[in-house]
Amino acid sequence: MRHRDTAICLRTTDYSETSQIVHFLTREAGVVRLLAKGTKRPKSKSGGAIDLLAEGDLMFSIRNIEALGTLMEFSETVSHSDLRRDAVRLNASLYAIELVGGMLAEADPHPEVFDLLHKTLGRLGQADAPIGAVIAYFQWRLLRHTGLLGGLAACVACGMPVAEIPQQGNVYFSSREGGILCDGCEAGHAEKFRIEPAVLGALAALAAAEAGKKVTLRDAQADGVNRLLCYHITHQLGKNLRMAKYVLKNKGP
Ligand SMILES: [Zn+2]
Repeated sequence: MRHRDTAICLRTTDYSETSQIVHFLTREAGVVRLLAKGTKRPKSKSGGAIDLLAEGDLMFSIRNIEALGTLMEFSETVSHSDLRRDAVRLNASLYAIELVGGMLAEADPHPEVFDLLHKTLGRLGQADAPIGAVIAYFQWRLLRHTGLLGGLAACVACGMPVAEIPQQGNVYFSSREGGILCDGCEAGHAEKFRIEPAVLGALAALAAAEAGKKVTLRDAQADGVNRLLCYHITHQLGKNLRMAKYVLKNKGP
């Protein structure tokens, strides 16, 4: 069956001298795996090998949505040259596509994740983008869409609202429990990640941002949120994320 869709390239592997296997996030069909024949020839229709982050119109055929399909045509319609010129922006973008590739199963459509990734890449390319905060919001939204954003409004064990948890105490996040553990409840749990008071405030700010309020995260707050959400994602995926060390400023978990 033939499909035409907008798509972003998440992953490429060499298949032969001239061909690639390309994982795309399509807007309507989710992640698809396609054999791109001849794309590495200089005079190919796609204008050469397809690069990570390439975004545009894709035509492909696929018999069974979980099988390897065939790329028929791809033309880049969005230029991400601003991202590619700067290592910090590029690394943040590569982290974003690694997360999407890791968290979405093939053939599981998530148009809202496509839109989120499209917007995030666009924002990361802008000169004034606060990169840490953009990535924090991206991780937050991605976890929300995939149903993995845990209980961040109250302690998952005793139900104490976050606003009432004493900030001088030890507050943790448990990936397995799917949420926050207050000072009184954390002792019984081995798998946990400590949350600094400033990061607790940043989580509340992100919840407000999701509700449509304009919020600003300081760099240190954004970095704290990123380390926490990256910890959660790593735990959920059961593997380390290759790009995490380039994106997280401080020592990771
Ligand atoms: Zn508690």
